[in-house]
Formats: sequence, C-alpha cells, structure tokens
Amino acid sequence: MPGRFDLSVADLAAVLDGEPAYRTRQVWRSLHQGREPEEMTDLPQALRARLARELVPGLQPVTSSVNADGDTTKWLWSLADGTRVETVLMEYRSGRVTVCVSSQAGCAMACTFCATGQAGFERHLTAGEIVEQVIRAGRASPGGRVSNVVFMGMGEPLANYGATWAAVERLHGDVGLSARHLTVSTVGIVPGILRLAEERLPVNLAVSLHAANDELRDSLVPINRRYPLTAVVEACQAWIASRNRRLSFEWALIDGVNDRPSDAAELAAIARPLAAHVNLIPLNPTPGYLTRGTPAAGVRAFRDRLVAAGVNATVRRNRGTDIAAACGQLAATGVPPLG
Ligand code: SAH
Repeated sequence: MPGRFDLSVADLAAVLDGEPAYRTRQVWRSLHQGREPEEMTDLPQALRARLARELVPGLQPVTSSVNADGDTTKWLWSLADGTRVETVLMEYRSGRVTVCVSSQAGCAMACTFCATGQAGFERHLTAGEIVEQVIRAGRASPGGRVSNVVFMGMGEPLANYGATWAAVERLHGDVGLSARHLTVSTVGIVPGILRLAEERLPVNLAVSLHAANDELRDSLVPINRRYPLTAVVEACQAWIASRNRRLSFEWALIDGVNDRPSDAAELAAIARPLAAHVNLIPLNPTPGYLTRGTPAAGVRAFRDRLVAAGVNATVRRNRGTDIAAACGQLAATGVPPLG
C-alpha cells in the first residue's frame, strides 16, 4: 500500500468506494490541510476509523530535535521501506515559516563539503514523500501553517525531476502555496534548469555555485566536470529570460579556499550580469571535510566586495548547527553526539 500522499485522486476514490462521490475531494482536501483521518470530524465515525487504517502514512518520525534558539526543528523520518531522510522547519520573527525538504535519500553529487554527498546515494523520494514532509512539519509549526518551501534538504532535486515537479504542483495546487514561495535548489544540473524554465509555475531557482572558476569548482562540486560554469551560466540566462523568474546563488564560504578577493571578483563577474542575488553562508562543519568556514570578519569583507561590485549579496544566519540541521549537515543520522 503506497503512503497516503502517493495515492492519486482516483486511488483515493477507490479507497472511498461505496461512499458518496463528494467524499473523495473532501478527504483529499483534508489530507492536504494536514488533518489525520481521526481529526476529520466532518466524516462519520466509522469512516474515520476505516481511513485511519487504510490511509497509511508514508513517513514515520524516528526522532525530532529543536535547536537551542528554539526556532529550528529537525525530523528524522523512516520511510515505508525503512529508508531514512530528514526535514527542517525554520521559524522567522517576520512570521515566515519555511520547510526545507529532502528530495532524495542520500545524494549522488558528491560535493566534498556536504554531509549528504559524503554519504552517497540511496534512492529517489516519491512526490508523496516530499509533500508529506511539508504536511507533517506544518502540523508542528505555529498556527499549523507553512509559508515557504525550499528544496534544500538531502538530495539533488533536479536529478529527481519528475517527483520534484509533481511535488511542486501539489504544494501549489493542493496545499495552496504560491510559486513565489517555493524554491528549487540545484548543484547546477543544466538540462533540469532548462526544463524548469519552461514550466508554467515561476518557482524560484537557487544555484549552489561555491566557486566561479572551473578549476576550483571541479574540486568542490564534481558535477562541474559534466556541466561546467559556461553551461550553467547559459542555463541561468535562459532561466532569467523566461518571464518572472528569480535567481540566486548559494556560496558556502570556506576558509582560504573560496573567500579570497579573486573569488569575490570572479563571482561578481558572473552574478552581476544575471542580476542574481548571492546568499553567503560560512561553511558548516561536516565529518568528512576538515577545512573550516570563513570567520565572521572574512564573511563581511567578502560580502562588502560583492556589494561594491554591484552585486546584491546577503549573509545568511547559520541556524541549527547545534542539532546538525544546518545547510550541508543532513546525514539522516538524527543528531550526532557532540565532540
Ligand atoms: N543538491 C541541491 C540541494 C541541496 S541544498 C543543491 O546542491 O543545491 C543544500 C545547500 O547547502 C547547497 O547550497 C549546498 O551546496 C550547501 N551546503 C552543502 N554543504 C554545506 C556546508 N557544509 N556548509 C554550508 N552549506 C553547505
């Protein structure tokens, strides 16, 4: 039996065989509002009990942890086949509530500094498994509400294009999130970016750049050998050219590796013509990569160089490092012991 969010409308109608036809839409809507069958008080008691048995969850919580600041929660889930993935919920003072979803268990991209990449690829997630992460995290959020979803958890969403896009459409059409509040992040899978540019919904695109010359990028992000910078930049141009698309670059600052003045100059030369926003973040520690993140003063200096070169750049707060929930730290092991 597939998880409840991997049922199509027709599958759900089959589960509801013998019930009035309107029940299918009613239950579909309730599920996407995050209600458990037991909580669907607009259904007869016997039907609720039956649905509780038949609409099996696709995700079971193994552990959940909250950071010391109390604004970031991470879940470790077990999927129906025992595969493990993680999801992060972030609350902001502005009222924004962002869920960071995984699109794959593990990742095949092998970025050297990323804990998910260090662990290797396990399997693709289904669209339902992606949607269910949002629904379950949303239940735990203040007001039971999610405002933004970022595909920045475990895995490479554009290497699992079909499920990623199906999840985007469900989050838009059934959960009710606007495309503007959905962000797909990619290591730079060129055919995927081009495909995304053709889609009807103008979601946001984030490209994990981290280096702006091929020699350095080859060493940090191995897929750069297949899709080198010129090809990534061309795909980004196509993205910008299709209407209403927003582009940002992610740049994890690594001490002495990609935080030099020459790196800022090379990044500015790429980002400025694309009017891309640059998100800077000091590298988070992971077990398999020993170089540390750029110290705070260096991060500010790097940002100032970008801004002086006419690039829109912001430094992102590192949240959830104490529960290994920050960018690049998701390894589906829950919270590793300190030290
Ligand atoms: N595979 C997609 C989605 C993952 S998003 C992508 O690469 O965009 C996770 C983000 O965290 C990416 O920008 C990734 O490069 C970044 N990241 C990975 N390891 C990190 C680390 N140790 N510190 C900070 N950011 C890291």
